[in-house]
Amino acid sequence: MVLDKLGDSLKATLQKIASAVFVDEKLVNELVKDMQRALLQSDVNVKLVFELSEKIKKRVLKDETPKGLTKKEYLIKIVYDEMVQFLGGEGHKIEVRKPFRIMLVGLFGNGKTTTAGKLAKFFQKRGFKVALVQTDTWRPAALEQLKQLGDRIGVPVFGDKTEKDPIRIIERCQSELAKYELVIFDTAGRDALSEDLILELDKLDKKIQADEKLLVMSADIGQAAERQAKAFAETCSVTGIIITKLEGTSKGGGALVACSVTKAPVKFIGVGEKIDDLEEFRPERFVGRLLGMGDIETLLEKARDAMTAEQAEDLQKRIVRGEFTLIDLYEQMEAMKKMGPLSKVLEMVPGMGQLKLPKEALQVQEGKLKKWKHIMDSCTKAELEDPEVIDTSRIERIAKGSGTGTGDVRELIKQYRQSKKLLKMFKGGGAKDMEKIMKKMGMK
Ligand code: GDP
Ligand code: MG
Repeated sequence: MVLDKLGDSLKATLQKIASAVFVDEKLVNELVKDMQRALLQSDVNVKLVFELSEKIKKRVLKDETPKGLTKKEYLIKIVYDEMVQFLGGEGHKIEVRKPFRIMLVGLFGNGKTTTAGKLAKFFQKRGFKVALVQTDTWRPAALEQLKQLGDRIGVPVFGDKTEKDPIRIIERCQSELAKYELVIFDTAGRDALSEDLILELDKLDKKIQADEKLLVMSADIGQAAERQAKAFAETCSVTGIIITKLEGTSKGGGALVACSVTKAPVKFIGVGEKIDDLEEFRPERFVGRLLGMGDIETLLEKARDAMTAEQAEDLQKRIVRGEFTLIDLYEQMEAMKKMGPLSKVLEMVPGMGQLKLPKEALQVQEGKLKKWKHIMDSCTKAELEDPEVIDTSRIERIAKGSGTGTGDVRELIKQYRQSKKLLKMFKGGGAKDMEKIMKKMGMK
């Protein structure tokens, strides 16, 4: 996978969210710190990292959680959204018409020739009649290198080993090139963006009249990619960037983010030396994968699953054994908030609709949930696991510690007992009904 290390750190961070009981400022701060560390290790510019973390923090603490999402899911979605923006926003797909011309530019050794071959295969697979042209007259072996790539995929390569003037090379094969739908032009590099390279590329550009001029840049320069991309954008008006060698460096994140602040978007990424190691760069998909999730739909699904599947299964088992804790109650209430009142849910279960259930047990109120969270924060682990140990003196201590009244604490305990009783009744309904209820409650 691309950017394994960054991906692993971010995944671990998301896992933390999934396994946390509550989303609070402490969790958000921890999350942002983890992200900062991961991004800085990937050589992302410090200022940009700081801006990103501020944005995420602000949104998490200020935004209202949209209906149908839990706070945790929303937090993950925010991280996803902001990361996508961070990497340049929606994908910038190349719109290839027929005929089409692509010109690759860049410094020595960044992967232009290799990428020319990769692009040829990429578009060939998509049904284009492709040709390659070598205009690099600086490196004696350049034509041979491209020919080898072309031969492997059955794409013709035009060039002239003895010609020193790249313009004449193009003029000589111009009429042949007209037979192809997509022509990819490789060019010569230099050690640095010198006057003479700018001049050469300018002349070539006028001759080629490329539809896309793509800068090929190796990921290992990290955030220095910004300067190089800007220089090429200003002097050669590149229309996009291809970042290569992304699989072999820890600085790839820095290079990708650096490009997102220039006007030229990253359109492809090179992820290996082989001819198939090229991908279109789509930030949405890329971030999804980086975070270990296919796309936002699966991301949200996963967020829900991570939070509830294991817990629900665990809860189901424990209820059957007669165990049920305060934390279970809270999570159950949160899940039910999404589903609407439990009475509605029960109506859908055969035989359950007629049951007379205590009214209080069926209502979840936002305000109460908040209070309960404070109360539970003041409980010890033993008290959360077995609320029956909470006696009068403990009730007073908890009320004081949570800034609530003893009546509130008692109410929570009462609610807990009722829910436990209720769940025992479900137990009598058989495992199948239990499954259904769990599902309806959004817990499975
Ligand atoms: P050019 O001078 O810009 O034409 O660069 P080349 O295409 O000759 O590539 C220079 C070196 O980088 C070669 O050894 C390529 O195999 C290697 N290379 C190019 N793209 C990638 C990539 O995405 N990943 C890896 N690991 N190596 C690459
Ligand atoms: Mg080359």
